[in-house]
Amino acid sequence: MNMKKYLISPDKKQYKANLHCHSVLSDGCKTPEELKEMYKSHGYDILAITDHERPRDHQSLADEDFMMLTGYECYIRPNARYDKYDREIHLNLFARDPKNIKMVNFDERYAAYLKRDNAIDTLVRVGDERPREYSVEYINEYIKTAKEHGYIVTYNHPYWSMDNESDILEYDGYFSLEICNYGSYLTNNLEYCGALYDKMLCKGKRVFCHGADDNHNGYPEGHPRCDSFGAFTMIMPDEFSYDSVFDAMEKGEMYASMGPTFKEISVEDGNIHIECSDVKSIFVYVGSKTPSCLIANEGETVNCADFKLDENARYVRVSVRDIYGRWADTRGFFPDEIK
Ligand SMILES: [Zn+2]
Ligand SMILES: [Zn+2]
Repeated sequence: MNMKKYLISPDKKQYKANLHCHSVLSDGCKTPEELKEMYKSHGYDILAITDHERPRDHQSLADEDFMMLTGYECYIRPNARYDKYDREIHLNLFARDPKNIKMVNFDERYAAYLKRDNAIDTLVRVGDERPREYSVEYINEYIKTAKEHGYIVTYNHPYWSMDNESDILEYDGYFSLEICNYGSYLTNNLEYCGALYDKMLCKGKRVFCHGADDNHNGYPEGHPRCDSFGAFTMIMPDEFSYDSVFDAMEKGEMYASMGPTFKEISVEDGNIHIECSDVKSIFVYVGSKTPSCLIANEGETVNCADFKLDENARYVRVSVRDIYGRWADTRGFFPDEIK
């Protein structure tokens, strides 16, 4: 007889976060102040403004009920310049210390936004400054260096990036895959990568998943192409403090969503129990071949499910989809975490 083990506890408060966002400091259209107000008024608790190659501390915008995470987005390309037919990689770096605005592996070819308003003059540079190299080896070294300097790293929008899948599966050290990037989803219709995530988990990669807007706000609120408020991450910290939120992210106490929410997921006596908002389908993946699923009858929805877990499952993750086609996804949990 096993004890009940919560993968998502009904007793933990969930905080809504957008972990990927651009402002006028790079190629976004809104100021940091406007972004904070927009997200706060839409019920978000946490925002990371992650401008391209521009580490910046936005703590002055934080208040008692709204947290600003410090971070930025980095590029690594075969030839530094943007090429719409070539591969590239984007990583988000989040600083454990909100005051940490170090630039990892500075490469002047990517410094256009820093040069625009002389922010480059006060830049704190760390790591290796040879020209960035688009190779698995260099990228893994980059992630390692970022971690040594107090950052945790996410792997962003794999479909948009056109990165080779074989390379993606070799990247190491990042803590979470951006399973849905809403900005890209709006432009390419396919930036939801549950299938890629399963490949990572099948390979035994202990990587979490999150959703984010990657908003640039070229279209106003209410416009069908508005890239805000489409994908988010629910984070479940012990308390609402920067440290605690960071701990929760590092421990994978979070899930990705485009709308649906999870109320509870628990494992007991070899069974998994799921409670969520009203959805069309509930899937439990233990690999790609044999997920368990509950699908609502035509015109109906479901909000809970119970399945027997296969003892030999290499991992478990839950994915639901609502009547609008919006997903929510937990991370993968491995046998040692659920027994
Ligand atoms: Zn990007
Ligand atoms: Zn971005």
